[in-house]
Amino acid sequence: MTASAPSGSGDVALPEPGAFDGHTHMDIMGLPVDGVLADARAVGITRVLNAGCDIPSSRWSAARAAEHDGAYAAVAIHPNETGSVDDRRAEVLAELAELAAQPGVVAIGETGLDYYRDWAAPQVQRWWFRAHIDLARQAGKALMIHDRDAHSDVLDILDETGPWPPDSVVFHCFSGDAAMARRCAEAGYIMSFAGNVTFKNASDLREAALVAPAELIIAETDAPYLTPAPHRGKPNSPAMTAHTVRFLSELKGLGLADFCAQLQSTGKRVFRW
Ligand SMILES: [Zn+2]
Repeated sequence: MTASAPSGSGDVALPEPGAFDGHTHMDIMGLPVDGVLADARAVGITRVLNAGCDIPSSRWSAARAAEHDGAYAAVAIHPNETGSVDDRRAEVLAELAELAAQPGVVAIGETGLDYYRDWAAPQVQRWWFRAHIDLARQAGKALMIHDRDAHSDVLDILDETGPWPPDSVVFHCFSGDAAMARRCAEAGYIMSFAGNVTFKNASDLREAALVAPAELIIAETDAPYLTPAPHRGKPNSPAMTAHTVRFLSELKGLGLADFCAQLQSTGKRVFRW
C-alpha cells in the first residue's frame, strides 16, 4: 500500500482556533516572537511550543513562555549537544530541573538519540536520555523525544523505564513507518508529525500517520526546518502548522474542524496548558 499525498492544502486559516505548533525553534528563526505568534494566531495556531537544545536555548524558551501568551517551552540538552556538557552533568541537570519547574514549561525535550550524526558518542547520548527521563518523571512533564536513526534503542529504553502513563511520551518529528506507528500506538505514545509528512517522497510517513489513532497525533513545524508543501524552499514558521494540520486531516479523511478539536484536546492532555 502506498499512501499518496492529498492535495489542496491552502493558505487559509483553520476553521477552529486551538490547534498548536507542538515543536519549534523561534530562537533559531531569529524573528521577533510577538510577530511570529501573531502570524500563527491569525491562521488558528493559538499555542507554540519552543523546544530547547542546550542550556541557552532552554533558558530562552522558558523566558519567552513566561513573557508571551500562547508561548510554551520544553527544556533539554539535544542528543547532539550532550558531548559538550558531559563533563558538567550534575550542574546542567540541576539547571534543567530548575527551568522545568517554571510556569509555561510543559515538557522535557528535545531529548533522545541521534545516530545519524556522530557529534556525541552513543553511550553518552544514552546516559543523557535516561537522565532526561528521570527529570521528566520527577517534574511530572511530558517527555519530548528526538529519534533519528535510533528507533530500536529509543523504544528499548522507553520499555525499560516504563510503564509510561498515557499522554506522557511524545515522538517529536515522528520518523517511523507504519510498523513503528503501530508499536507507538500500543504503548500510547504521541506521534508528532512535522511538515515532512507532506513531502512527495514521504509515503512511509503517510502510512504511519494513517495507522496512528487520531487521538495520538499532534502537528508541529520544527521551524525553521522542514517547511511543508506547498511552501518548500521558504523559511518555516509556526503559522505553517496550519498546512500540516490540513494535510493530516485530509489524509486521515477527518473533517478539519473535528480534527482541530481533537488536536486541541490532545494538546491539553499531553501538555496540560
Ligand atoms: Zn527540533
